Amino acid sequence: MWNNPTLSSQSRIALLIDRLVSCPPNCLLLEGGTRNERRELALYWAMSLNCRANPGPCGQCPPCVQIQGHEFRDMFHMEEGKKVKIEEIRDLRPVFSQKPHFSYRLIIIEECQGLGSAPANALLKSLEEPKPGNSFILLAPQRENLFSTLVSRSFVLTLNRSTSYTQDDETEELFRELSGFVRTGRGWLTRTMKKGGVDQAMAQKVILRCRHELIQAMIKNEPSNLFSALSPEMKYQVMMILRKAEDSISFNVRIDLAMEWLAVSIWKNLNRGKNVYRK
Ligand SMILES: [Zn+2]
Repeated sequence: MWNNPTLSSQSRIALLIDRLVSCPPNCLLLEGGTRNERRELALYWAMSLNCRANPGPCGQCPPCVQIQGHEFRDMFHMEEGKKVKIEEIRDLRPVFSQKPHFSYRLIIIEECQGLGSAPANALLKSLEEPKPGNSFILLAPQRENLFSTLVSRSFVLTLNRSTSYTQDDETEELFRELSGFVRTGRGWLTRTMKKGGVDQAMAQKVILRCRHELIQAMIKNEPSNLFSALSPEMKYQVMMILRKAEDSISFNVRIDLAMEWLAVSIWKNLNRGKNVYRK
């Protein structure tokens, strides 16, 4: 079997994908999770449809290896919905009538929430006249941000919100700075205001790190934990703050503003009752 961490963090979806292989939908829409998880599961789906092993995907046969390396001849991968042009979709239409080299041709479009109406309509045409051997995969943070006509023609799978966190130095440093700000009200904003100080991937890691801290506070509640002093209700509110920040980041709002909002919201929550709002 293909060994990939996303398959354990999103095992429920991987199992559903395994079941879909016997009767693949024309268009699969993966929403939720992180951007990376959606991408990995799209590749998992592509491998599942083309793997030579049974049960697959093995991760080792030629189609599996080529799909992981983005070298599969029958895979068209568009990474940014907002950059997809109508011509790109139109030019593919004659290709859809041809027989794929292996079992299935894959058309993956990431960040579909940015898709313009012209390419979305061209895509819709292809979905309305499905040709055998083609499988579309649309990826987006939330289905609500897609054209409803695309959603209604897709088989939708909703990924879990990620909770797994693997420690790395840069994230730990950022988390220390964020913790410092939350405790003292100083420091963090200079970091986020620096141009490119925190990018999207790093922001997601910081949020995961915060969620990890919060979960630890719920299980063990050690005094060193940033959230240990919070009541259950306040912990719940921090969870909601993290969720909102994560959504903002997925929708490509300005990362610095989202991270600033995150820090200030947690700071307010931690300092409630300490009269920090006094004007
Ligand atoms: Zn394989």
